[in-house]
Amino acid sequence: MSVDADNLQSTVRYALLTTRATTVCPFHPDVIIRVGDDGAETHAYYRARNIIKSDGTCWDHDDLMEEIASQLVQAADGECPRCRQHLRHPN
Ligand SMILES: [Zn+2]
Repeated sequence: MSVDADNLQSTVRYALLTTRATTVCPFHPDVIIRVGDDGAETHAYYRARNIIKSDGTCWDHDDLMEEIASQLVQAADGECPRCRQHLRHPN
């Protein structure tokens, strides 16, 4: 997967996915699931911190922490809600 280093959302999304803090549902590509523990999320922060923008700087600590927190809140917890719903209500 590719990352747009000049876009905070893209940078954080990439870092979370590549450190397995989050994953994309294999059946619903628009559903992001939170699967990692604190270690994975910390790892994601450092990975995002190491992504260099096109102007040679990296993202600010506070901006990263805020965006990581917001993406984790938006992610489904542990399993895809649409898959779960499908299992409960076949057809
Ligand atoms: Zn799903």
